[in-house]
Amino acid sequence: MRVLITGGAGFVGSHLADAWLARGDEVTALDLAPDTKVRHLREHPGFKVVRASVLDRDILEGLVARADLVYHLAAVVGVEHYVGDPYQVLTVNINGTQEVLTAAFRHQTKVVFASTSEVYGRNTRVPFDEDSDRVLGSTAIDRWCYATSKAAGEHFCFAFARMGLPVVVLRYFNVYGPRLDQMDRGRVVTIFMGQLLRGEPLTVIGDGAQTRCFTYVDDAVRATVAAGLRPEAVGRAINVGSDEEVSVRELAARMVRIADSASLVISVPEEAVYDRGYEDIPRRVPAVGRMRELLGVEAEVPLDEGLRRTIEWFKRQ
Ligand code: UDP
Repeated sequence: MRVLITGGAGFVGSHLADAWLARGDEVTALDLAPDTKVRHLREHPGFKVVRASVLDRDILEGLVARADLVYHLAAVVGVEHYVGDPYQVLTVNINGTQEVLTAAFRHQTKVVFASTSEVYGRNTRVPFDEDSDRVLGSTAIDRWCYATSKAAGEHFCFAFARMGLPVVVLRYFNVYGPRLDQMDRGRVVTIFMGQLLRGEPLTVIGDGAQTRCFTYVDDAVRATVAAGLRPEAVGRAINVGSDEEVSVRELAARMVRIADSASLVISVPEEAVYDRGYEDIPRRVPAVGRMRELLGVEAEVPLDEGLRRTIEWFKRQ
């Protein structure tokens, strides 16, 4: 099979490329980012990177024409972007998704769309099943532009599905692992990682009682491969996550313990990390029944084990 992965040089995309190549399939990654995360694949005969934007219509069209399956992962991701550059988030995520779906529709090629648990927003009724309400704050808060952009992408997916295109929507829950963002940047695991490896205090925002279900990348990738293969998944939105819920304070404590570090865990106000336009989500927990039933996948890597592997990987960098 010839698999096109937009965002294939990114964090989840690079692991997904590894998984398809390991099955003996061919992978083309379309990505604007430098190819650092797929450097190990440079000599692989089944792998190719095209350095361009999903908004480059001619290049996208040519790549979709040659693919049997399209994963659309290319997006502007990370809270620092939501609050720092909402224009890019909205443009790339909404228009990029429309472009990919339009090209795939022309060739009747199945699309798996990477959406996010962020679409549920700050709904306080957990666990979130796939039909749960979306509860977002005011548009004056930049943070919500990402959830809005991904929800618009999902609506586009379902609109194309109505016209007959096979699509699957995956909502990822805080995926982490080797090759996540650069240390000190992006998501909480990499921000804590930089602090941890320098022996500095880990900066928990607020009281740290907010919770997440961190999902090890190998588990997320098994679900993502299954979504590309299984006919039962077509036309559905599916949560991809672990249901092991931890508070952010507990996450920090575990990282310190696993790394055997002397770092302290301190509480900071949100302005110490994000300038403005930030609003936190109190609890985020997936219902995982649909993932189990439609994809045949359950999260298998416990948080401690996943953190141990991730810390080891960052130490080696
Ligand atoms: N967080 C934190 N300290 C930091 C960065 C983030 O306590 O230095 C918290 C953040 O407030 C949130 C959680 O970690 O509650 C996860 O944040 P992240 O940006 O990774 O993703 P989110 O799940 O909010 O999209």
